Amino acid sequence: MRYLSTRGIAPELNFDDVLITGLARDGGLYLPMDWPQFSSEDLRAFGSLSYPELAAEVMRPFLGDTITRDVFDNLVEATYSEFTHPLVAPLKQFESNIWLMELFHGPTLAFKDYAMQILGRLFDQALLARGKRTTIIGATSGDTGSAAIEACKDREAIDVFIFFPKDRVSPIQQRQMTTVEADNIHAIALEGTFDDCQDMVKALFNNLQFRDKYALSAINSINWARLMPQIVYYFWAGVSLGLNERRLVFSVPSGNFGNVFSAYAAKKMGLPIEKLIVATNSNDILTRFFNTGTMEIRGVQPSISPSMDIQVSSNFERLLFDLNSRDGASTNKILEMFRSEGKFSVSEETLMEARRIFDAVSVSDVDTLERISTTFKEKGEILDPHTAIGVEGAYRFASSASMESDLSIVSLACAHPAKFPDAVQKATGANPKLPVHLKDLLTRKERLTVLPNSIQHVSSYIAANSRVEVT
Ligand SMILES: *Cc1c(COP(=O)(O)O)cnc(C)c1O
Repeated sequence: MRYLSTRGIAPELNFDDVLITGLARDGGLYLPMDWPQFSSEDLRAFGSLSYPELAAEVMRPFLGDTITRDVFDNLVEATYSEFTHPLVAPLKQFESNIWLMELFHGPTLAFKDYAMQILGRLFDQALLARGKRTTIIGATSGDTGSAAIEACKDREAIDVFIFFPKDRVSPIQQRQMTTVEADNIHAIALEGTFDDCQDMVKALFNNLQFRDKYALSAINSINWARLMPQIVYYFWAGVSLGLNERRLVFSVPSGNFGNVFSAYAAKKMGLPIEKLIVATNSNDILTRFFNTGTMEIRGVQPSISPSMDIQVSSNFERLLFDLNSRDGASTNKILEMFRSEGKFSVSEETLMEARRIFDAVSVSDVDTLERISTTFKEKGEILDPHTAIGVEGAYRFASSASMESDLSIVSLACAHPAKFPDAVQKATGANPKLPVHLKDLLTRKERLTVLPNSIQHVSSYIAANSRVEVT
């Protein structure tokens, strides 16, 4: 399988180079040249597979010959055997046509573990095979950082530097990053905001000399290898519900558009998906796009679902590229305009095409709390605020004119409620408990470095602590 950049200039690469490169050198994102296809017969045969077996089947066509079958199967098996639910991604029925798929049974309690745990292992594998090391840097507002740290701790070929805004992440999120005892992990509280953390990462990447010297790499969802493992659970949901004459709708709480793009990939690969509901909080840039055809930046408003407080959804570029018949030059032009003017529009025809697949809703904090409360009263289930936004999207869709009787809606539970105790407490009065393996999280010893928002300080810290051999 070959991969091409959404900007059309960077060279085509194999899977392992895409993995290690992350962002294409032309500033674009990598996508597979074509989508692997599964027939309805293939899908029926998937019915007897465990989650790791299905995961290996769905991902294998993306890898080409960059990793042997045995090695990959074992890697996938090892990954998901560490998840705390035997089904890995269990489904719960809420209504005759609404299900919840729980994606918080990994080590850091958010769906990001499902991909990051694979990514950490793939990275180590690819680097050791080449006798190389890498320095991973990343900015986080909470969930990505902890998932990356947990996935990369003690891996031989990787050093990890995660920047989070000092005093601006929740105590649980912070402790998930700072209580991991591993010499290759560096949790850095930057004296600044999340945007400062992101700018810092960009500045480090833009210093090409520094980037090459310390072999910098990225683990956020611009990396194709973050999206690939997410495709699996959409197939899992379809196969678990039985695909006979069933058409699927997924409701996906969205920020960076990574998770829902994986659903789009599953549709392209043959899963009978009728609609994808892009569910956002009051930061509704995506919802406004799907309603009007215009993508326009407005300021970020803090909400009770902080992992979706996002202004620019980086993975939207992948959809835009597809909607533009995979024309890199025109994708580039639109995105240049977006950068300079904070706004772009697509044609009526392109919008119609997008709306055939996507539906979008924006859910306020008030409605989010209301959904958590109702679900607790009626179903006895505690939802985290991100999950509640997806569930609200599912109920709104179920009561809309688009809802036909043979549709099944699966809403994604993106985080464990104990990660966001304040909102949950406010809505239900209940205090969600952390799972056993994290019970003592709030009393563990923290290891973190506080650094000023200064590129000089940060670069020298990385230079002093990265194990990449400087030549
Ligand atoms: C990352 C995250 C999201 C947003 O997912 P995207 O792939 O960025 O759209 C939603 N909910 C939770 C809990 C998250 O951690």
